[in-house]
Amino acid sequence: MNLKLNFEKINLLIEPLEIIGANNCTQEIDVIYTDTRKIRTSKGAAFVALKGIQSNGIEYIPSAYNLGIRTFIIAEKPLEIFPDACYFIVKDTLSTLGKIAQWKRKQFKGQLIAITGRIGKTTVKEWLYHFLSPEMLVTRSPKSYNSELGIIRSILEMNEAAEIAIIEVKPHSELSFETINRIIQPNIAVLTSSDGAGVQFPDSYYEQLFAQTDILFHSSRKRQFEKYIGTKINVPLIDKQKFPSDTATEAQLMNVSLAMACAEHISDGKIDLKEKLASLPELALRMDTYEGIQDNFIINDLYNLDEEALINALEFQQTIAHGRECIVILSTEGIEKMALEKFREIIAEHKVQRIIEIPSIDFQTDEIQNSVVLIKGKRNAQINRLINKFKLKKHLTHVRIDLKALRKNIVAHKKMVDPETKMLLMIKASGYGSEIDKMVHSTQSFGIDYYGVAFVDEGIAIRKTGCTLPIMIMNVEPGNYEACIEWDLEPAIYDFQQLDDFISECIYQGIENYPIHIKLDTGMRRLGFEIEQINQLIEILKAQPEIQVKSVYSHLAEAENSFDKRFSEHQILNFKKAVNKLAAEIHTDFDTHIQNSSGIAQYGNINCSMIRLGIGMYGVANVDKIRPYLEPVLSWYSTICQIKTIEKGQTVGYNRTFTADKTIKIAVVPIGYADGLKRSLSNGVGELFVKGIACPIVGRVSMDMVMIDVTKANAKLGDEVEIIGIHQSIEKLAKMMNTIPYEVMTSIAPRVHRMYVEK
Ligand SMILES: *Cc1c(COP(=O)(O)O)cnc(C)c1O
Repeated sequence: MNLKLNFEKINLLIEPLEIIGANNCTQEIDVIYTDTRKIRTSKGAAFVALKGIQSNGIEYIPSAYNLGIRTFIIAEKPLEIFPDACYFIVKDTLSTLGKIAQWKRKQFKGQLIAITGRIGKTTVKEWLYHFLSPEMLVTRSPKSYNSELGIIRSILEMNEAAEIAIIEVKPHSELSFETINRIIQPNIAVLTSSDGAGVQFPDSYYEQLFAQTDILFHSSRKRQFEKYIGTKINVPLIDKQKFPSDTATEAQLMNVSLAMACAEHISDGKIDLKEKLASLPELALRMDTYEGIQDNFIINDLYNLDEEALINALEFQQTIAHGRECIVILSTEGIEKMALEKFREIIAEHKVQRIIEIPSIDFQTDEIQNSVVLIKGKRNAQINRLINKFKLKKHLTHVRIDLKALRKNIVAHKKMVDPETKMLLMIKASGYGSEIDKMVHSTQSFGIDYYGVAFVDEGIAIRKTGCTLPIMIMNVEPGNYEACIEWDLEPAIYDFQQLDDFISECIYQGIENYPIHIKLDTGMRRLGFEIEQINQLIEILKAQPEIQVKSVYSHLAEAENSFDKRFSEHQILNFKKAVNKLAAEIHTDFDTHIQNSSGIAQYGNINCSMIRLGIGMYGVANVDKIRPYLEPVLSWYSTICQIKTIEKGQTVGYNRTFTADKTIKIAVVPIGYADGLKRSLSNGVGELFVKGIACPIVGRVSMDMVMIDVTKANAKLGDEVEIIGIHQSIEKLAKMMNTIPYEVMTSIAPRVHRMYVEK
């Protein structure tokens, strides 16, 4: 506080009735305490014993004494007199403190700005501070005091060397105007938009409050302040475009307009306020907001039981509602009756469609949909559980799958072939690393004729979604035929043993005409009947009524090769020959197919009745021809969980494989090789992107974490990190990992959360 009050000065100022231990009153008073818990130093300290409702300061004198305090200002004689202490006995300690504050105010040579109004005081104060500091030396009250003692304290705590002091004054019917004016004596007043809900103070209240100010900034459209004799400035709203965030509420615009007008007056053109406006700090309203389940938006205002905060939150709720229902959940437990009444009153004054009081009413969170939900009250276990239930779970590391792009890519491939051609969608390996049920939901109504998967359990997973489309299983393992039939899945048959076993199962179950697919090997040298085995195959197919050939297919070994198509053309020709032979002998209609994604893009229409689309639907093009028509579907993100400065010579990560050759900033990202970020990307082989800037991997990739150099990106905690996205395609990442997009996609671990979005 730096009061520098020597014995004579204090004597003159407080006019004590009596002094006990005057010999001991040698020390200059610099700081005054009224609460023993706040005592930091005994040097130059005095303790003022105030009489409150619940406690009497006089009882705390021994503990203040034990903390080294020797100067006391008291209104009654203490029970015990310490021989080395100095006691000033006064009539009333609070008014004595007021006198000291008044004296301090008089010493202050700068301008004092008082900010008042029902809501927005802290915002205006902080923004005004932002506009004026550091160009001017500004001191400001730490919070909004509404008691006389609070105001006295904010004056006493003011930095006397400052050019500007900003003090919040909460309108309060019990404060005496006279006292306030004597103590604060503001030069300038700012009245925040106070026409909202709640208690309305009349013009005369504010006129009296600021009787001595020279200038008053306000934004009221209703108030006249007829009796106010200083200069009145009715501040207009600034242009919404000038506000740095595009979600400005009217209240925010008003607050910034007031702060700016006041700053303009004070700085007199010496500060570039436009530049300051662009960097306006986002004020944490001590309110959490987040996306909730069922399209709800949640405002969590459980941090205090302040009426002002509630009004703020309700106004914020209105501004973001855009026609959605506004719901308030009020947790009443542990709130005083009076305060609760006040809350209900304030809520009733706002356009809230529904108020749910907890715990008295029993309600289900799933009845609440597409609403803006404000949660207010005292935090307790029940309310925490409720919030967790409401919160849409966000994952630090997640893959986003853009379903709109996915459908677009399916269409792009369809356009490469005859419109009659059927589409089999290959969603093996859980849909190339996606979730099979989500893939089915979003594609089955999209002109798909067939699904194809590698194993029976993948087929069962599709059936469990309720999908009734035919499903081809490429690899039915021995022992799985029964399940295959039970779930109405169609096996691909590639050798005689398998054919025999499947027929036996059908005979055992008394089944006829069970759909199967014949796989031919035309050059891949993987699964499939050899061309030479066709005649023998025809004999069996003709003899067995248990099975029916639904399709005959083969697979191209190098469909993506655009430079030399001879091998593929040879495969296609052999396939056609075999198909013709089969068709001539078995007399049933079946589909034919040989083209995968690259085959579709490369060869287009080749008179097969079906195509098998796989990786192409994810927007990965292995053939240039189709690239312009595809859009990336999959992106992969994580979040910075710590930032560190690494000094020259320090090492990073396992085995200390990286040594900094200069000071750098690194970020720790919670993604590692167990998520599919290959260890071979260590030490700058790979890079991730922050804010579009390439950040090389520093040191070794660990199992669950990786460090990246963010020196250039100026990254901060919580920033999003792109692994795959607009700056780094799957193809590029695959190249860095020394592999192909297929492997990248299928190595993203199942533990990585998948998010399906319709952009
Ligand atoms: C995986 C697979 C496909 C799809 O291949 P893409 O290159 O992803 O289009 C087609 N046919 C068979 C037999 C497959 O195994």
